[in-house]
Amino acid sequence: MKKSRPKKAKAIKKTPKPKTKAASNIDEIIAEVAGADVVPLVKALRNKANLSEFKLADSIKKEINLTRNMLYRLYDNNLVSFTRKKDKKKGWYIYYWTFNQKRIKDIVKDLRKKKLERLEERLAREKTTQFYACKNNCIRLDFEQCHDFSFKCPECGELLNMEDNTQKIRELEQEIMRIKKELLLNKS
Ligand SMILES: [Zn+2]
Repeated sequence: MKKSRPKKAKAIKKTPKPKTKAASNIDEIIAEVAGADVVPLVKALRNKANLSEFKLADSIKKEINLTRNMLYRLYDNNLVSFTRKKDKKKGWYIYYWTFNQKRIKDIVKDLRKKKLERLEERLAREKTTQFYACKNNCIRLDFEQCHDFSFKCPECGELLNMEDNTQKIRELEQEIMRIKKELLLNKS
């Protein structure tokens, strides 16, 4: 029945899945930090240098303004650098862009660090909170929330029971260890 409402409470229940393999994929990293639409642009930029924005717009078949918007987004994340040259005939500047491959490594590291922070916060919460759960898996609440609902599941009406989260804590600790190891291995 109405199982869609307590999304937040359900999200806490999920076991963390290792995403590091996916995060090492350059396309996914680019999409995560600058938007999925810039992925084709980055493909056009990679392994080349000083590409004019007009050429880039041509190769991804987008308007120049849209292409520039994407380039600025990459620039905001230090993923590209540029030089500019004045077009003598037209009198305006043309920008030439180069992809900053080295930056990818830093981003991977940053993402890992952020994930580590999130997991450590979660672990602290798991260790310091007594959770109550519904046997039908609808929801998971802390004492205060549980009290607000008179110890009954707001979704199905079942009595909420104290939950043993030892296994969750162990999984979180393992995941944290794994990421810490990765960060150490990729230190440079
Ligand atoms: Zn329930």
